[in-house]
Amino acid sequence: MSSERVILVTGANKGIGFELVKKLVGSKDTVVLACRDLNRGQEALKQLGNQMNVHLIQLDTSSPQSIQEATEQIKKKFGHLDVLVNNAGIAKHEKSLQAATEIFGTNYHGIKKVNQHFLPLMNKNGRIVNVSSEVGAWTLDQCSDELKQKLLHPNLTEAELDKIVESFFHAIENHTEAENGFPAESPFLIYGMSKTALNMYTRIHPAGYESMIAVCPGYCATDLNNHTGGRTASVGADSVLFVVNDKSVENGKFYQDGKLKPW
Ligand code: NDP
Repeated sequence: MSSERVILVTGANKGIGFELVKKLVGSKDTVVLACRDLNRGQEALKQLGNQMNVHLIQLDTSSPQSIQEATEQIKKKFGHLDVLVNNAGIAKHEKSLQAATEIFGTNYHGIKKVNQHFLPLMNKNGRIVNVSSEVGAWTLDQCSDELKQKLLHPNLTEAELDKIVESFFHAIENHTEAENGFPAESPFLIYGMSKTALNMYTRIHPAGYESMIAVCPGYCATDLNNHTGGRTASVGADSVLFVVNDKSVENGKFYQDGKLKPW
């Protein structure tokens, strides 16, 4: 991809997103460090040494109003976007409808809303990078054969995927995960399904999204997992940076460490 891109990274005040921005500091690219809390964003900017090519923006990816305001600001300030990195994500262990609403609100529905808003601003050679997880692939693998077939169907539509997500919410509410083909015993059930859904959304990449890639940063020591991960956030950010930069990555596929990964 050409230099001097406008690259927006969500959830970039810490963890993998922050390390990604750090790697882009001093490049010809204009980097937008998006954060849901501007104080935390200011702190992150300070840590970077207030770099010229890094701009701060407030963006809570679970809030339609915040998404709308951020879109307007980007339009006014830069006119377009070349790369949108949907990095913001959350994980929780509890299994409840509220937890599902919150986790999907950021990891799946939030990303879809962000993409819908920013799509009109995307350069035609631009790229959307969805930071997903191998946990999504494990969770898919643990689904019933019938559900797996539906999720992996070559002609799956976004509406059908959303219906499966709705049925997951219904199952969580009614404690009927196993009967509906979801891996009820998985310790990462809700987080895992949110990433499975994100992977399938990337796979089908609805009309208009010319270039959409999913990427796993690998298991990194960050606040998300109380720093239990085996690699640094910087190594995880390298995995993301590869799909931000590489010209030959395949649209609608899943990558880790520069290599294609099965769903
Ligand atoms: P961290 O918890 O360190 O950072 C998450 C970032 O996302 C923070 O900046 C957080 O902001 C932000 N965020 C959370 N919710 C929202 C929201 N609604 N709107 C805007 N920003 C939000 O996690 P990681 O760096 O580890 O995770 C980054 C991504 O990588 C996630 O999508 C995660 O699922 C994925 N991933 C991580 C792995 C790991 O091992 N760490 C493995 C595989 C995937 P705030 O500081 O305000 O909370």
